[in-house]
Amino acid sequence: MSHITLNRTHDLMPKVGYGLWKIPNEDAEEAVYNAIKIGYRLLDGAAVYGNEVEVGRGIKKAISEGIVKREDLFARNSHRKLNAVVTKLWNNFHHKDRVRPAFDRQLKDLGLDYVDLYLIHFPVPLAYVNDNTLGWADEKTNELIIENSPIQDTWRELEKLVDAKLARNIGISNFNVQTILDLLTYCKYKPAVLQVELHPYLQQPRLVKWVQAQGIAVMAYSSFGPVSYLEMTEEAKSTPPLLENKVIVAIANKHNKTPSQVLLRWSVQKDVIVIPKSLNPDRMRNNLDVLDWSLDEEDLKEIAGLDQKLRFNDTVSYGLSLPLW
Ligand code: NAD
Repeated sequence: MSHITLNRTHDLMPKVGYGLWKIPNEDAEEAVYNAIKIGYRLLDGAAVYGNEVEVGRGIKKAISEGIVKREDLFARNSHRKLNAVVTKLWNNFHHKDRVRPAFDRQLKDLGLDYVDLYLIHFPVPLAYVNDNTLGWADEKTNELIIENSPIQDTWRELEKLVDAKLARNIGISNFNVQTILDLLTYCKYKPAVLQVELHPYLQQPRLVKWVQAQGIAVMAYSSFGPVSYLEMTEEAKSTPPLLENKVIVAIANKHNKTPSQVLLRWSVQKDVIVIPKSLNPDRMRNNLDVLDWSLDEEDLKEIAGLDQKLRFNDTVSYGLSLPLW
């Protein structure tokens, strides 16, 4: 199965998508255009990635050249493949009066009239500074300023986006079980998706199982582990690269696949959506090709042994003194 059926809309979401974090503005248009040309139909963006204008241009170029039709790229028909544009609300815009303007700006930047999936990026409401400041710590004081804005208010605004047919599906990112449980007590629309950091060094098996049992699809980010945090944390630098881990390499050799494919397959096989990021067309193709073969029981057992509960995208490193999940 190459797709996951989302709750409520029954939209079909591709199991493999393309991640847009840290794609430089000057590369983003071509990267998105190439990704669509290569066959990606799910794009994972966010306001805080700062490249939505260029991402929008890449989508537009692919459509104008007839590589995908507008209606095929963003299918409304739930019986057809959902080829999704996903984006996320940044922390400084959680306040109920800020969600809609922030969303409208993202939609305008992307040049779209709706998105397929809109996520709350983190369960961390931070004070609004201005429309162009998307960050963690306050630039002057270097402190995190928490805004008095409960997730419930923010979620209500996301639900209004669904009612206004501006977001087909809504979801959450970086939430833990307790935060989701609370949300489930008041939501009108259940989250369709939870996006979290997930790789063999951070396997979170109970979270994945519980969330899927609630009918919420799980989407993994940073499937290759420390590699995308090398310039951000000491921990990532001192951790042996997952792509070179000898267990992963041996399994890759056994199946005549690459280590990256083993890491992606490990998630996909659990019905977890992956969104690898690369600017290299060969790697982009390679990452997409993880749907027609399987890891066996022995491989899964060996990979289970690699878990270190090691989180690289940790709010502690952004100034929050307590981990939230
Ligand atoms: P990733 O795990 O996709 O790794 C990217 C790195 O792996 C890059 O350095 C790339 O050059 C390398 N790479 C890619 N394909 C390769 C291959 N086939 N062989 C060898 N190396 C390869 O990292 P990521 O960007 O952290 O995560 C993917 C996406 O997840 C992001 O782009 C973003 O869309 C999303 N994300 C979301 C959050 C969140 O808080 N919700 C956080 C981080 C990332």
